[in-house]
Amino acid sequence: MTISGLEQRIRVLPESVINQIAAGEVVLRPASALKELGDNAIDAEAQHLSFWTQAGGKALIQVTDDGIGMSPIDAELCFERHATSKISQAQDLYSLSTKGFRGEALASIAAVAEVELFTRRPTDEIGTHVVIAFGKKRLSEPVRCAVGTTVIVRKLFHRVPVRRKSLRSDLTEHRHNLQEFFRLAYAHPERHFSFYHNGQLVIDLPPASLLERILAIHPELSEEAVIALAEETPLFSVQGYAVLPEFTPPGNREGFLFINSRYIRHPGIQHAISQVYRPLLPPEVRPLYWVFLEVPPSQVDVNVTPSKTEARLVHEVEIRKMLSSVFRQALAKSKLALPADWLSRPSAVLEVPPAAPATPAPPRITAPALDLPLSEGTALQYLLLQGRFLVLNTSEGESWLIDLLGAHERILYERYLCQQEVLPQGLLFPALASASPLQCARIAELKPILQAQGLEVEIREGKEIVLHAIPAGLRPAGAGPILEALLEVAAAETLPPDWRERMARHIARYGALRPPYTLTPEAVQTLWQSLLACEEPNYSPSGRRIRFLLSAEALERLFT
Ligand code: ADP
Ligand code: MG
Repeated sequence: MTISGLEQRIRVLPESVINQIAAGEVVLRPASALKELGDNAIDAEAQHLSFWTQAGGKALIQVTDDGIGMSPIDAELCFERHATSKISQAQDLYSLSTKGFRGEALASIAAVAEVELFTRRPTDEIGTHVVIAFGKKRLSEPVRCAVGTTVIVRKLFHRVPVRRKSLRSDLTEHRHNLQEFFRLAYAHPERHFSFYHNGQLVIDLPPASLLERILAIHPELSEEAVIALAEETPLFSVQGYAVLPEFTPPGNREGFLFINSRYIRHPGIQHAISQVYRPLLPPEVRPLYWVFLEVPPSQVDVNVTPSKTEARLVHEVEIRKMLSSVFRQALAKSKLALPADWLSRPSAVLEVPPAAPATPAPPRITAPALDLPLSEGTALQYLLLQGRFLVLNTSEGESWLIDLLGAHERILYERYLCQQEVLPQGLLFPALASASPLQCARIAELKPILQAQGLEVEIREGKEIVLHAIPAGLRPAGAGPILEALLEVAAAETLPPDWRERMARHIARYGALRPPYTLTPEAVQTLWQSLLACEEPNYSPSGRRIRFLLSAEALERLFT
């Protein structure tokens, strides 16, 4: 071992500094560990970062970098709480240029998992191997290894049952992992990022421009869908891209803000940007953008949460104003019709446009039977008009005028919402659409649920979704729009709580057979009984009237 093996970059922070660092938990789920390891690799000037996970990170998270590595002493010290090479005095908190500085990530991870570290500096011939499990050092030895650092995390939360129980399915955790990975990959397009899950390459992102990186992660977008942002003031500058409203993925839930290359959630600033899009996007869709804000480090405090993903900004008000105007200029190029005074409106006056008439909350539903046996001796008299409208005389002597299309949509909608087992009907021409890795991960997660309801999906090469079957009795031509609806649900950052309702609405709208209909007496009987079993037999899911009672008064009124 060389003398420089004793070189020590890491210091344990003095108590006074420790107290200025907000206490808290760093590791909440595999994705938080993955983020911290990624941050460390960036701080270590790595050019290629590889992420390996198994079982959504529950079984394994490994991050390998080709950065500056650590000396043997640092390789042990780095697991001490408040051990960091990045700051040494409180003053440094106000001039941060690194992602880490709290010196607690590795300590926190090693406290709740088994962690193995391999590290070697370019100047050393031999590296160091350290194993530490649940806070106890197990091993520290010289080892032959590549330049850079590999950290392997296994058995995460094995001794923290509460945390372990709060973990979601592998696929959900995988999606969180990818989300953190992409945030880091957007922030550093000039570096090479690779992600493997369960031994398979999920995505490889070679060094690129920011725009190329964005398009690599979002294959559904093209260059004409995004527009460049750039503005500089003496206090701060902004660069990045925004997706034009007409190209915004329908289920988008997140725009990306980076402050000094760090991914930050800042509701105030993000709200200001959303306001500019307000008149141009449906209320539930968030704008998609990548905004890179450069602010002097002294004017931003990221030491607000342990994960360092929130920030206080000295000039927040000015920054909001500036971003509003930058976005407004950029979006003026949108092809959508803008309100006449939109460009000149001060941001505070930009109001939410009158919302579309609220659709009633989905009713609580008891299963309507679609295939009731015919009741005996109650033959219905009916007349079909224009292949679509039915005049029906019931056994009780009532007459109804019924829109069969609306009725069909209503029955499909409630049947789907009730989650009755539905047989799949294979498609002669499967529907196919490209999807982002996030969408693929989400759809993989939902696959069993979809399957039970007659939707058979295949995820092809992690970038395409194929819809092979739709519920029996639906119109095959509806497969395309139904797949689109599914992708929309899958694009959301968190699964929208009303996703089933949304899917039901689309399935009803696009899957319902189209007029003209031909009807047998049996079909009329089944349809009428199914409609009566519906929670809301009078209106279609999109709010159209389904039936009118043709009372004597109603008929008379027609002739006055
Ligand atoms: P922080 O990043 O806040 O300093 P961490 O617990 O994440 O705290 O890491 C502690 C120290 O370990 C870092 O300051 C750094 O010196 C060293 N370190 C961690 N990961 C790496 C890495 N991948 N390459 C080189 N050094 C690292
Ligand atoms: Mg760190």
